[in-house]
Amino acid sequence: MRFNTKAIHAGQQNEQTTGAVMPPIFQTSTYAQKAPNVHQGYDYARVGNPTRTALEKLIAGLEGADECACFASGVAAMDALMKMFRPGDHIIATNDLYGGSYRLFTTVFEPYGIDISFVDMTDLDLVKEAITESTKMLWIETPTNPLLRVVDIKKLSDIAKNNHILTVVDNTFASPYLQRPLELGADAVLHSATKYLAGHSDVIHGAIASSNKEIMENLRFQVKTTGAVPGPMDCYLTLRGIKTLHVRVERSVQNAKQIAEFLSSHPKVEEAIYPGLSSHPQHELAALQMDDFGAMVSFSLKDDSMEAGIQFMSNTKVFTLAESLGGVESLMSHPASMTHGSIPKEVREKSGLHDSLIRLSVGIEDIQDLIEDLDQAF
Ligand SMILES: *Cc1c(COP(=O)(O)O)cnc(C)c1O
Repeated sequence: MRFNTKAIHAGQQNEQTTGAVMPPIFQTSTYAQKAPNVHQGYDYARVGNPTRTALEKLIAGLEGADECACFASGVAAMDALMKMFRPGDHIIATNDLYGGSYRLFTTVFEPYGIDISFVDMTDLDLVKEAITESTKMLWIETPTNPLLRVVDIKKLSDIAKNNHILTVVDNTFASPYLQRPLELGADAVLHSATKYLAGHSDVIHGAIASSNKEIMENLRFQVKTTGAVPGPMDCYLTLRGIKTLHVRVERSVQNAKQIAEFLSSHPKVEEAIYPGLSSHPQHELAALQMDDFGAMVSFSLKDDSMEAGIQFMSNTKVFTLAESLGGVESLMSHPASMTHGSIPKEVREKSGLHDSLIRLSVGIEDIQDLIEDLDQAF
């Protein structure tokens, strides 16, 4: 099956008892057993639920993985994955990354004795230099957030393999429609399914897909033991959202390209950042690694102050000022004061995150309305 067919059918089957085409929402906490431990594959809903199973099979199919485990949120999925590691283990993570990932690494896992180095992964030599005998995982986010740098998944996976290190990619920004890290050599893929997968800003949800037995066994154990699982209604919503993933992302990308062009020639814009622009430093890598350039666009203003960024954002009427991304509606955010507020200013500035930087998640509204909205906000 090709991607657009998989988005609708991968791992799906009509429901056994009634033939329902859509998976029912199995709103149950437990399942009847014929005799102790004699059941139909489900015993208690923390461990498994058929609505969740349908979703897990769908996401695994899209990422080309043997399995997928779903969690109550993207960070819950990360938290479960990180529990594979032990004090003294070392992890190398992308330096420009989701603020919540940075917070989880530095405030939860560093105090438990896991060493984490944040490295500019666009420079492969820096990654090689950071590897130690204790390094267990490369944590890659690409395109990065919010600077939209593109990291070479294939080359980094090769380096990791040579050093017996796992490679895990946070594929939230690209979605499997545009980028499939497992095909490039990564061992596992994480999603904040809250974003493009679910796609309608109506659910919080996370997932990890992998064909690596050790990773999946650990995740199943965490699902059962620490239980940060999604409810069946949320699984249903995400499953329904994924069925239009290809259509939504394709339109969002079309819109994002036109917005990036508009911004890059606007006199009040200092810099427009979009992997699809030929001025982007990793434009060629993005063209190679991704099927298209995504629907996230960032830009900074000539007047590079917090105030200028905040002023611009209070002027828009179609773009909504809100955290999050990947929904059908266009959103904008101000990383310095919002998502990346928990990263210290010195650290932010070192990685090139300017105070006026505005991040757009371009939705599927009419492109003319979106451009007019930005134009009047300047
Ligand atoms: C939102 C996000 C997360 C966290 O996911 P939640 O579902 O909000 O817990 C992780 N990584 C990236 C890139 C994100 O955008």
